[in-house]
Amino acid sequence: MSAHIGVTGLAVMGANLARNLARNGYTVALHNRSAGKTDALIEAHGDEGEFVRTETLAELVESLERPRRVLIMVKAGAPVDAVIEQLTPLLDEGDIVIDAGNSFYEETRRREEALREKGLHFVGVGVSGGEEGALNGPSIMPGGSKESYQTLGPMLEKISAKYNGEPCCAWVGTDGAGHYVKMVHNGIEYADMQVIGEAYDLMRSLGGLEPVQQAEAFREWNTTDLASYLIEITAEVLEQEDEVTGNPLVDVIVDSAGQKGTGRWTAISGLEVGSPVTAIAESVFARSISSQRELRAETNEVFPSGLDEHTPEVPYQEEGTQQTFVEDVRKALYASKLVAYAQGLDMLVSAADEYGWDLDLKSIASLWRAGCIIRADLLDTIMKAFDAAPEDRPKNLLLAEEFTEAINECLPSWRRVVAAAATYGVPAPVFSSSLSYYDSLRRDRLPAALIQGQRDYFGAHTYQRVDKEGTFHTLWSGSRIEVDA
Ligand code: NAP
Repeated sequence: MSAHIGVTGLAVMGANLARNLARNGYTVALHNRSAGKTDALIEAHGDEGEFVRTETLAELVESLERPRRVLIMVKAGAPVDAVIEQLTPLLDEGDIVIDAGNSFYEETRRREEALREKGLHFVGVGVSGGEEGALNGPSIMPGGSKESYQTLGPMLEKISAKYNGEPCCAWVGTDGAGHYVKMVHNGIEYADMQVIGEAYDLMRSLGGLEPVQQAEAFREWNTTDLASYLIEITAEVLEQEDEVTGNPLVDVIVDSAGQKGTGRWTAISGLEVGSPVTAIAESVFARSISSQRELRAETNEVFPSGLDEHTPEVPYQEEGTQQTFVEDVRKALYASKLVAYAQGLDMLVSAADEYGWDLDLKSIASLWRAGCIIRADLLDTIMKAFDAAPEDRPKNLLLAEEFTEAINECLPSWRRVVAAAATYGVPAPVFSSSLSYYDSLRRDRLPAALIQGQRDYFGAHTYQRVDKEGTFHTLWSGSRIEVDA
């Protein structure tokens, strides 16, 4: 029997994608470098659909219908290149090689170009949703050639998550676009998690709300514009009691957040394409600071945290003031989250320019509505914001009429919360940098004019004038007369 698709790399992600494909009626040829994982999968789940067991890549290729589709799900980095090197001599023109792992988009661009020269399609696919998503329906962001999507798309759409029956899978753009969009998704995820963390810290440190009380607040928030998977699981985590100590679990977890790199890649790419993804970058740095545990402990000895005699008493813990503060935090969280999305989507526009992609923000927002970690009701509203013809779409999410009113409504709370964080010494890097981003965008004059003056002074970098065309330089060290540059 010819298999519809082959999967090589059967650790948890590959195995679950293979099972998802088989459960959806596709015959799936299985391969893993060491056959043990193939046998384990067939033994445990062989009855879920049609599987073809193979031991070598040659056997895998042999078992496939044409054009062949081979999905690679091995460890990202060098292993992907190793598999491609062994695989490509076995394939024929028009066959499709799919990398559905967490590959860096520049590597995907390189691999796509190399395989295109050999007449093969290389499709980098962003997959979000972890193990559970891979098995039951992930959010899928495929790149590669549009032609390859005609053969591959229907399969991917079938196994993807569905939002109101619509697949969370659509062709995103050529070469590395799929992995790029997935990377930005992860960057937004970092920011989304960080703003929730800041809200928790502020409500605890200044509002005096214990984790279990906060679980209730987050549950309540999940019925508002903030409704999302991350808010939902936050309530669950905050409610969890540690079996050993009886304390809230969050109090016994080491406060040092790990990262696998996609947030860092997003921040770096933001710098490269000149797109200010401040919320994402601050979230990555916040995790870095959290990991500097020794330095933090030492600094805490020198500059103890908590209130000192110079700080006014926290006024947010009385009945009434506490409720108002919690509502302020909710609004600050919503506004900061909007900024994170606005920046992430803006970055996609800059990257599309840089890499020649034709990215459709409305379609991309639709892919994130189910199956992935940032799934949220907000994405449906974001889709509406980008519903108009491309030329009529807002230049920035914050300018969409769906959100301007919300921003205006959140603004006083946002300012109060950022001011409170600074007054009482609670770090809120994304709340405050997002507010600065908003204030920077709306400001008629920025101090960049002075910076241009300084640059012209020490380096003759020249400047432009607001009142006439041209480029100018002031003779700073001499007559101080302005000349045409
Ligand atoms: P993994 O631990 O990243 O990789 C293990 C698999 O890679 C095994 O099948 C292993 O084969 C194979 N492998 C490693 N080096 C190899 C080489 N040189 N040649 C051939 N095969 C090699 O597996 P995973 O956790 O299932 O993740 C797979 C991919 O999905 C990664 O890119 C990962 O980052 C990504 N991922 C995505 C999500 C998501 O939510 N989208 C979540 C987790 C992971 P052996 O069994 O023979 O060692």
